[in-house]
Amino acid sequence: MGNSQAEKLIIIGSGPAGLTAAIYAARGNLKPLVIAGREAGGQLVWTTDVDDYPGFETGIQGPELMAKMRKQAERFDTRFIGEDVVSVDLKTRPFVVQSESRRLMTESLIVATGASAIWLGLPSEERLKGKGVSACAVCDGFFFKGKVVAVVGGGDSALREANYLSKLCKQITVIHRRDTLRAQAALQELVKNKTNVNFIWNSIVEEVLGQDKVTGLKLKNTQTGKISELQIDGLFVAVGHKPNTDFLKGQLALDKKGYIVVKNDTQTNIPGVFAAGDVADFKYRQAVTAAGAGCKAAFEAEEYLANMR
Ligand code: NAP
Repeated sequence: MGNSQAEKLIIIGSGPAGLTAAIYAARGNLKPLVIAGREAGGQLVWTTDVDDYPGFETGIQGPELMAKMRKQAERFDTRFIGEDVVSVDLKTRPFVVQSESRRLMTESLIVATGASAIWLGLPSEERLKGKGVSACAVCDGFFFKGKVVAVVGGGDSALREANYLSKLCKQITVIHRRDTLRAQAALQELVKNKTNVNFIWNSIVEEVLGQDKVTGLKLKNTQTGKISELQIDGLFVAVGHKPNTDFLKGQLALDKKGYIVVKNDTQTNIPGVFAAGDVADFKYRQAVTAAGAGCKAAFEAEEYLANMR
């Protein structure tokens, strides 16, 4: 079998999962082609200090870590295309991958497209995006230097945002819908010790206030139902992530939240198609677990291709 026009392996995504898959697959002589996406590098590109990735005893900046992974993949002759994938056809062999400008064919596929930030879903939030409402402190925090901001959420992302903003902003209020944080203990301790960070518990944002720019929030206490207002200059939304799988609908088995369903870690319901990283992992979602899954997916692809011949 085999198709001379087809790649042996295409990897979609260039975060820790995609790049680790590329490093292993390239070393396994699969000559992988990575469709890196317009925003290459995944979520770590929007992170600052990464203190929990093994091997960097004093920590490393997210963008630097991703640049190192990419250079490592390039060292073993991985090829990259800086486009998004628009659609795939997994019902035909070889599989078809349509990027913005190219129609590509491949014998095997690793999907490592990660996850993106979820928004609150309020009309006022939508209207004020880019006018004081953001989901990325690293990208937009600079505009709020010396100002008063709020962060919504109680997970790792929210506390990371609060930690980053505490170095720039005058005051940060973390608004959480419960009275217990979901974030890891080390982050909780770090943020709770900041003198310019305070918490509002058991509260949800009902409305973002302001006409042309954010001026405040209307909050509702989830216990008492009491409505209050908080004056702020900026709102950072950090209420979780959703998998980037819209382009896979109808092609690959997804669960009800849109994550790719896998068995044996990386195998999808279609032989020859593997998934790695946040796109299939709603539990751990760490750079190191994504990298580990990328490694496994590359081995699986190698085994699949060997059995094809
Ligand atoms: P997450 O862990 O799912 O936390 C989302 C938070 O937002 C929760 O506290 C949740 O409240 C709250 N929330 C959800 N919907 C809401 C709504 N509509 N209104 C108000 N609050 C809402 O998501 P995450 O913080 O983005 O983290 C995702 C994954 O990435 C996690 O596994 C995390 O460990 C990982 N991550 C790791 C790091 C790191 O530094 N290692 C950094 C970022 C992310 P409840 O608690 O009540 O559910």
